[in-house]
Amino acid sequence: MSWQRPYRELNPKVEELIVTVLEEGKGTGRSPEWQTLGSVTQLDCHNPLCQRGGVDLHHTLREMVATRRAELENVKMCRGTEGGGSRVAPRHCLNRFAYRISLAYEAERPA
Ligand SMILES: [Zn+2]
Repeated sequence: MSWQRPYRELNPKVEELIVTVLEEGKGTGRSPEWQTLGSVTQLDCHNPLCQRGGVDLHHTLREMVATRRAELENVKMCRGTEGGGSRVAPRHCLNRFAYRISLAYEAERPA
């Protein structure tokens, strides 16, 4: 599971990372709900036809850490494509991710 990869290796000053996501689109059920994913750096797409989908949070997280930002909300479309086999031209996956990122930083040690 890609969910499980710890965020600490990216930046040791981050105490805690919590990502919550609301995914809408194919494979997400009739009434999608906010899910807490915890310490993840990417969102997986649940569209069964989607290839190389999801949302990569690495860049966003790096920016947040660089500016010591604690909270961020955003909405992104899946970056994947629906592969239709040889008969159908591939098209963009239309799954949509609303997500919230919450970061807690280690307290600065007094000198
Ligand atoms: Zn997708």
